[in-house]
Amino acid sequence: MDNTPLLHIASKNPGKIAELSKYLGSFFQVIPYATKSPTLHWIEDCDSFVGNARKKALAIWNALGHFVLADDSGLEVKALNGAPGVFSARYAGAKGSAKDCNAKLLKEMRNISEAQRQAEFVCCLALMTPSGECYFFTGRCRGSIALASRGDQGFGYDPVFIPEDYSQTFAELGAKVKSQLSHRHKALSQLRGQIDAIFLKESL
Ligand code: IMP
Repeated sequence: MDNTPLLHIASKNPGKIAELSKYLGSFFQVIPYATKSPTLHWIEDCDSFVGNARKKALAIWNALGHFVLADDSGLEVKALNGAPGVFSARYAGAKGSAKDCNAKLLKEMRNISEAQRQAEFVCCLALMTPSGECYFFTGRCRGSIALASRGDQGFGYDPVFIPEDYSQTFAELGAKVKSQLSHRHKALSQLRGQIDAIFLKESL
């Protein structure tokens, strides 16, 4: 019998699910939330990534138990005082697409010089354990906002984000490079560093 613990991923974003599953498949049987309980909903109305991540994880944990991992993430742009931040997904309105968000961001920044376009991706992971403990892991990735959208890989703001020390966007660099540099990778590395201790505490 397979004793690998079950992990529900509390996300509806296929881009995030793919990145998270790739890292965690050796520790867990990963189940994207949508495949098990597509009717569950949550409102991301907290003013912090940690608050929203905890809220998502708790919603799924209350319904399904097991391990649950939630990711709340977004883009903070220095010249916009940290916007879009926790509103990254809804920056172009509730029904706005990623393309709409990128277009709005580029428009807001049309008068901002290349030297002032610093930005940071932030990823907060909340891991709920079967016993109800919640652990948080935060990763950041520094970079800048491109002058125009470039590339067709990845998701969300990847076509407008140039990671530090590179000249191409995440959408041009592709999954392999992104997986070594990204905010999500950094948060996942912290999680992986603690997974043995967490399993021990849960007596797995
Ligand atoms: P939420 O965490 O579901 O509120 O959504 C976060 C939003 O931030 C996503 O919809 C994306 O627009 C953006 N985002 C988060 N992580 C990434 C990333 O790795 N690449 C590009 N955009 C991202």
